[in-house]
Amino acid sequence: MRLEFSAGAIIYKIEGGNVKFLFLISPKGDSDIPKGHIEKGEDSYSAAKREIKEESGLDVNFIPYFKYVNKYFFYENKEKILKTVTVFIAKVSGKSRVKISWEHKGYKWLTFEEAIKEVNYKDMKVLLSAVNDYIQRYEAIGQLNKEYRNLSDLNGWNLSKRFVPGEGPLNAKIMLIGQAPGNEEDKQQRPFVGRSGKLLDEMLKKSKIKRSEVYITSAVQFFPPANRVPTAKEIELCKPFLEKQIEIIKPKFIILLGSVASKATLGIENIDENHGKTVKKEGITYFITYHPAAALRFPEIKNRMYEDFEKFKKMTEAHS
Ligand code: URA
Repeated sequence: MRLEFSAGAIIYKIEGGNVKFLFLISPKGDSDIPKGHIEKGEDSYSAAKREIKEESGLDVNFIPYFKYVNKYFFYENKEKILKTVTVFIAKVSGKSRVKISWEHKGYKWLTFEEAIKEVNYKDMKVLLSAVNDYIQRYEAIGQLNKEYRNLSDLNGWNLSKRFVPGEGPLNAKIMLIGQAPGNEEDKQQRPFVGRSGKLLDEMLKKSKIKRSEVYITSAVQFFPPANRVPTAKEIELCKPFLEKQIEIIKPKFIILLGSVASKATLGIENIDENHGKTVKKEGITYFITYHPAAALRFPEIKNRMYEDFEKFKKMTEAHS
């Protein structure tokens, strides 16, 4: 059996508020997405990037985290071939125009409903649905972050003006909510990249949870100067944005790191009494534990936090 590897992307643009997908038309009249063989020295990402440029001429931005791997068998001259196709999502940047190569005779931009009717294979329909769902989340988070960022223009603003967006796959099964960014997070504009983040990484690793598979955010997404606790007013102001993120990500589980996150989502403040406990709310299982900053200060809390993560791991294993 021969193995073949190819990569490509579903390309989209927003037109009149609607998502439109790009299909290239082969000389036989079939519709396909830009994709092709992964050449020697390439990975799936660089192959997809090259294929897009060659086959569509477009400048695109890849949507972070999304990667869909499809495998199927087919025969060529009686030889069995296992083909692995890796598909990314790419968004057309600016006013970039399609310029097809000799390999195609035309192209068309289709809405999701039109595209679903256009593709023949069942796995392509499944892929398109997953892509459409991901794009809806991506555009919604983009819009939300834009509005959230603008909060810092309010009069009497006492937090950093630098926004720290949530990070991770927008279809993650697990979401983590912290308190507020620290100094390092403020500098890098990424959540949990400082000392607390390192400890959190350790806890995730021990629980066999990949950081790249969880969505990480905080109850307040601006650094409170001098690392103070955000005020009740600041937490309230940010709460609708936290709720909207939960609504968009729709995780199965949410790990609440510390009392600010726990109070903002469940109204529960006492972590000593409630750590390791779960609360079901609106179809989501919330799991309460300490904030890693507390674990860095007190070895006893660190042990309890490790135990909580162990418990969480067993619980999620039972669900899968
Ligand atoms: N602590 C938090 O609560 N959030 C971050 O993003 C970083 C540290």
